[in-house]
Amino acid sequence: MSLSEFDIIHRFFRREHKVPGVTLGIGDDAALLAPAAGMSLAVTVDTLVAGRHFPEQTDAASIGYKALAVNLSDLAAMGAQPGWATLALTLPDVNEDWLTGFAEGFFQLADRFNVALVGGDTTRGPLSITVQALGQVDTVHALRRDAAKPGQHIFVTGTPGDAACALQQLRAGESVAEEMLVRLNRPEPRVAFGQALAGVAAAAIDVSDGLLADIQHVLDASRCGAQVNVDAITRSRGLQVLDDEVALACQLNGGDDYELCFTADTDCVEQIYRAAEDCDLSIAEIGIIEPLSGMRCVRADGSPYAPVIEGFDHFRKADV
Ligand code: ADP
Ligand code: MG
Repeated sequence: MSLSEFDIIHRFFRREHKVPGVTLGIGDDAALLAPAAGMSLAVTVDTLVAGRHFPEQTDAASIGYKALAVNLSDLAAMGAQPGWATLALTLPDVNEDWLTGFAEGFFQLADRFNVALVGGDTTRGPLSITVQALGQVDTVHALRRDAAKPGQHIFVTGTPGDAACALQQLRAGESVAEEMLVRLNRPEPRVAFGQALAGVAAAAIDVSDGLLADIQHVLDASRCGAQVNVDAITRSRGLQVLDDEVALACQLNGGDDYELCFTADTDCVEQIYRAAEDCDLSIAEIGIIEPLSGMRCVRADGSPYAPVIEGFDHFRKADV
């Protein structure tokens, strides 16, 4: 049996929800949304292409989860509260099992963060998933990339590098520990912590391209430099068994973990540690913002470290 575009939308994507601000959801030419008075809309969109953003063999539920997770991570990095999403789905064929799995993964996360799917588009073609997420943030409290200043402390959440490690092992045909595979397929967007940082931290970015590359984005936007102690980045148990150089490469250049990297003034640091504890999230102070442009990496003993900075850039690297 072949389902029409409208059957697909109806069966898999049109759902009851109690999310505020949705005047009109799926079914019309456009959704009508009502942000709260005085708040800025935070809008972000990300596309996942099979074989490029996830291995072809990834299960449908993980793809649905990740397509939303990467967008919620962007909202978290702005300090925004997620509210709504749209979904543009390009499918090679109508596979009901795949669609069931995809919707399950997508809505598992949507329900946890109280996000309503309010519209989208469904077309036929090579598998590609585009999710747009919309959230709200107090304009003056939004965490922007251009707000870092010399003297501020640089932090990162969690244990960066796990997803990159899992991906490498998958590609090499090696066995991957379950806890590492989860980090690749089911990244946890740091939504509550991002909101807690709004108005407290200065600049923030979510780590999607690679930690050093993403820090560099903050430095470029803020026109300053930084010193980063590469040994201060928390190393997961999964990375601890690797060769030091390999583990460091995963931590510094991997990026698919969707952790938050942010800067903060000294007098906000205590409040930030408390917020992390409230969110049950570990954070590590990994460096300091400096006036001179460029990034200087050091080891724990203060000796300089020259990393190979290879942030992900779709148009630079042809192979994934
Ligand atoms: P139009 O032709 O006016 O763009 P569509 O036929 O593409 O409308 O879509 C009909 C309705 O279903 C719209 O409200 C649209 O937002 C929604 N929609 C289409 N595809 C999806 C999807 N994959 N997920 C959620 N909503 C969708
Ligand atoms: Mg359409």
